[in-house]
Amino acid sequence: MITISQKKNTTFYGRVAAVAFPVAIPGIYDYEIPDKFIDRVTPGQPVLVEVKKSRIWGVAVEIKADSAVADKVKLKEIIDIKEGHWADSNKSLLKLYEWIARYYQCPVGRVFRPVVGKSVINKKAKTITVYRYIDTQAASTSINRRDGGVNTDKQRLALEQIKSCPEPLSAAQLATRFGIAASTLSALCKKGYLSKELKTVFRSADELAFPFAEEKEVILSAEQLACVERVAASFNTPDKPFLLYGITGSGKTHVYTELAKRVLAAGRGVIILVPEISLTPQTISRFRAAIGDAVTVIHSRMSDGERRDSLQEIVTGRRRAVVGVRSALLCPMEDVGLIVVDEEHDGSYKQSDTDPRYNARDAAVMRGHIQGAAVVLGSATPSLESYRNALTGKYNLLTLTDRFGAGLPAVKIVDMTVEHREKNWTAMSRYLAVRLEEELSLGRQAIMLLNRRGFSTSLLCRECGYTHNCPNCSVNLRYHKADTVLKCHLCGHEEPALESCPKCGGLKIKYKGTGIQKAEEMIRERFPAARILRMDQDTTRRKGSHAAILDAFASGGADILIGTQMVAKGLNFPNVTLVGVLHADTGLHFPDFRASERTFQLLTQVAGRAGRAELAGEVVVQTYCPGDAAVRFAAEHDYLSFYEHEIKHRRELSYPPFGKIARVVVEGGDEAVVAGFIGKAARMIGVNAGTDAGKIKVLGPTVAALARVDNVYRYSMILKSSSPGALSDALIEIRKSAASGIPSGCKCVVDVDPQNML
Ligand code: ADP
Ligand code: ZN
Repeated sequence: MITISQKKNTTFYGRVAAVAFPVAIPGIYDYEIPDKFIDRVTPGQPVLVEVKKSRIWGVAVEIKADSAVADKVKLKEIIDIKEGHWADSNKSLLKLYEWIARYYQCPVGRVFRPVVGKSVINKKAKTITVYRYIDTQAASTSINRRDGGVNTDKQRLALEQIKSCPEPLSAAQLATRFGIAASTLSALCKKGYLSKELKTVFRSADELAFPFAEEKEVILSAEQLACVERVAASFNTPDKPFLLYGITGSGKTHVYTELAKRVLAAGRGVIILVPEISLTPQTISRFRAAIGDAVTVIHSRMSDGERRDSLQEIVTGRRRAVVGVRSALLCPMEDVGLIVVDEEHDGSYKQSDTDPRYNARDAAVMRGHIQGAAVVLGSATPSLESYRNALTGKYNLLTLTDRFGAGLPAVKIVDMTVEHREKNWTAMSRYLAVRLEEELSLGRQAIMLLNRRGFSTSLLCRECGYTHNCPNCSVNLRYHKADTVLKCHLCGHEEPALESCPKCGGLKIKYKGTGIQKAEEMIRERFPAARILRMDQDTTRRKGSHAAILDAFASGGADILIGTQMVAKGLNFPNVTLVGVLHADTGLHFPDFRASERTFQLLTQVAGRAGRAELAGEVVVQTYCPGDAAVRFAAEHDYLSFYEHEIKHRRELSYPPFGKIARVVVEGGDEAVVAGFIGKAARMIGVNAGTDAGKIKVLGPTVAALARVDNVYRYSMILKSSSPGALSDALIEIRKSAASGIPSGCKCVVDVDPQNML
């Protein structure tokens, strides 16, 4: 680890701690450990120190011995420390945090953000006043026989009610539950029958606040049980991670819950990662039903207080299981025995927008290794990386091939070019329209997928050909019809919808392309009696809105759920018998080497939503590229053939899983300066790579696919290498040169194992 001393040539009195910070302070700085804390500060300890006149919590990452130096200037002292659980857990996880920082090339302090970040560590526990019944006499004495102090029926009744509660309750709770008035409570307090006390409450996420449905008792099938037994056999001596490849609906979740039960019974902790918030409500209720109140949650839509309390429950060991999104992987849980990464292929496990740019799936493998936990990566469409790891023996492969319920749905591919040729210009093929009609008339439900926000995709003047772009970004604006505005999906820029062409004044403005809002409108017009719900980024802004939409659909409150990729994953609706993919190729032509893999995954996942229970399902896939491998193999539910097909391309082009890649993005307000700096960095790597027998291949630099975002110009290059060491060295060089010489106003981002190629 590189340690940058805060002040050079300093005299050390006593011992010194090197401290890293969860904020934008890249270095590690030395602080003196004052006498009162001597021998109480160890690596991993949260410490409060002063940086540039403000107090901030950091983490001691190294303790150094006294060193005598010439300069008289003293180091600043550590002001406060956190001991107990937080310190213990950080200590045991320091290795993981340091691995993440090293592997993903970011300051180690950043990795601590989820656990010592301001929002977490400064939050206090929430307390409420509760009323406790005082039993002044022997247990056998009833209130009626006491001294006549309780002199009204109201008070007597209230006292009986309070006495019957297993836990002391607050005035508000007593009022709602029993209708006890505040005046009654204070009278009873005065007479000595009740005492007031402060109780710490757990600010739980909504997912925990509501009761859960009982999970139906299932008897594991032979193949499910075989998977459980193989993982369980490794609990005491886990050697490699497991890849659980199980088709959609094969019961992977039952395998996870059974494993979780066993690990909890052995007294060890469980971490379950799920990709996205839209997935959590159902998943959480299934885990709660299976393992009860041991579960807490962590996701991005919790308040700071809820997050703090959730972490507090975990760190104190009061809850030994967490279901959460990627950051849950960093949670301060000791003695973890099982880590599950559900839908392991999902790109959202990679943090792409800010440091640490880690992939929680890969970090899970490392955490499992460090804590001796079994790691299970599960998917119906494993990433090419993971499946190859299973084939080469780096992971253990487990498979589930049987589906419960009606079996895999039939998939019908509809060629939209034929529809157009035959004069159907709408976004719904004649076949899909007929099928939707049929299913709705039988009282069944349907899911329609269109992975495109907004109403239209672009805007064109038919008189002069003008297209209307965002003034700040290199993309076109999207029309949002409900509020008649044009929006930029990158920077959030909004302007009123155009009535005439800004260039020629013409009035023939055409909103081209079908976004999900236009699709919704079209379906409403064609099926006026159907009740329709839409789920996309625009309808799920509010906290709890995901769950509300899903609950409404699940309870039969709508006939059609139309949504973006949010609807494709993990959901389980027994009454859904038809899934329509309105435009399967939306993602196929993205400038990303994973475009085909992503399309295959999305289509397979959404196809898995139909026919989950007794009713058989059908999936209608509308496409302009019916011959494409991703579309074809997804329609045939043929993962292995897709893998064979796709892995060849990866091998030819040395993309992952063959060799590693990293992406370097330089951003800044002045395009020439941005291009100049990244060019210099590329030449530096090129020169060094040449001396190292071509270990590193540089693609680019070139204008990034998102060339301009919010008036920031973006250039990128990709480094490829079969040698992880050489790649890592090259990135260290680039970071060094950025740290010392990046032009002001520019930023250089290093992304190892990137998922986002825009
Ligand atoms: P996956 O996570 O692989 O998509 P799920 O765990 O959601 O699959 O299971 C799909 C459906 O099949 C669920 O309704 C589940 O309850 C049912 N199921 C799975 N395994 C069994 C089993 N052994 N017995 C009865 N039902 C099962
Ligand atoms: Zn914009």
